[in-house]
Amino acid sequence: MNSLDDLCRQLKDRAETLNSIDAWPREQLAAMAEAGVLSWLIPEKFGGKEVSAVELTAGYQQLAAACLTSTFVLTQRNAAIQRIVTSPNTDLKGYLLPELVDDSQFVTVGISHLTTSRQHWKQPTVAAERLDGGFILQGEIPWVTGGDRANVIVTGGTTQYGEQVLLAVETDCDGVEMREPVSMLALNASRTGSIGLNQVFVPWTQLLHGPTDNVMKQGGGGAGTHTTSALAIGHAASAVSLLQSEAERRPELNEILEPIAADVAEVSSHLSEAVVSNEDPLPEHLTAESLRRRSNSLALRASQAALAASKGAGFVTGHPAGRLVAEAMFFLVWSCPAPVVMANLREFASLCSPGEQSWNSGC
Ligand SMILES: Cc1cc2nc3c(=O)[nH]c(=O)nc-3n(C[C@H](O)[C@H](O)[C@H](O)COP(=O)(O)OP(=O)(O)OC[C@H]3O[C@@H](n4cnc5c(N)ncnc54)[C@H](O)[C@@H]3O)c2cc1C
Repeated sequence: MNSLDDLCRQLKDRAETLNSIDAWPREQLAAMAEAGVLSWLIPEKFGGKEVSAVELTAGYQQLAAACLTSTFVLTQRNAAIQRIVTSPNTDLKGYLLPELVDDSQFVTVGISHLTTSRQHWKQPTVAAERLDGGFILQGEIPWVTGGDRANVIVTGGTTQYGEQVLLAVETDCDGVEMREPVSMLALNASRTGSIGLNQVFVPWTQLLHGPTDNVMKQGGGGAGTHTTSALAIGHAASAVSLLQSEAERRPELNEILEPIAADVAEVSSHLSEAVVSNEDPLPEHLTAESLRRRSNSLALRASQAALAASKGAGFVTGHPAGRLVAEAMFFLVWSCPAPVVMANLREFASLCSPGEQSWNSGC
């Protein structure tokens, strides 16, 4: 079995190849399977090898620093697995989970319409009509990563009684309309796009959570989790490495490198503290919201510093600095709760001076 360090070296070497919607990190997922990474969330009784929360967030940071696209795809797969593992539906778990310990099957999530996407719409994006034998899904899942590579999509809808459900929908069901992935600013090889649901029948046996008022409160997760912060910190660490390689030849860059590197180390250490903390309430610097806000700010600042230090050469297609800047923008829109977006926007508007942009500033 490959070590995580070996895996990261492989992912880093191939990161620049994942720049188009015609690509898909198939080899990267195979290498992750080889290194045991795909079983990180799967309990042993289903053939997996669970890791602790600290190992998980540290692992995500290391992987994201090597290749953000394939690590992001991994997290969408793991978000689906998390909802399966925490489901009370034991038959479905026994059927799905043993198949997911390697890369032979792919599962993903389409749940943003229950958290961050289309929240201003008057009608639910996905209606789940409740019948005796199951649910009829009608509508559109706005965002699904790797939908056309998935066997199962964990998605949700709202019933005629106003409750929500999470279901494991098989992609070969009648009425599942797989749309072309959209072309994006970055992470194109994640093959992200929408999926149409045209009178899709899903039996009760595929029910994971609900029916209940707020199904995303069941089974962990939601928007702006520690996983999302871990990826942003890993991304910032990658930008710091690039800055460091420039600073080795140009010592005047050290005054920029040192505070950013220290900031990455501090946010990373607070994240490790937060995932094991039993404090209630959590101190401000350990809340998921403040960690995500600081991680987003870091990803943006570190990548721009790496680009500025790389000068015009960094602006040429294929240079890692340009990719890092484009990828940093992703954290402003992916699974980003409204208060985090507002805090990042306030930073852009200079409503917080740079000196106030610390964890306890409220900015
Ligand atoms: C690369 C990428 C991959 C993703 N992968 C997944 C995935 O695998 N699974 C998943 O579940 N999600 C995924 N997401 C979704 C993501 O987590 C967010 O939910 C999504 O980015 C939110 O953006 P939206 O355009 O859907 O938001 P919306 O809130 O729907 O905004 C869309 C537009 O509506 C307008 N608008 C917004 N708010 C208001 C308002 N209050 N009043 C009037 N108009 C308004 C604005 O013009 C805005 O541009 C992904 C996103 C990205 C970018």
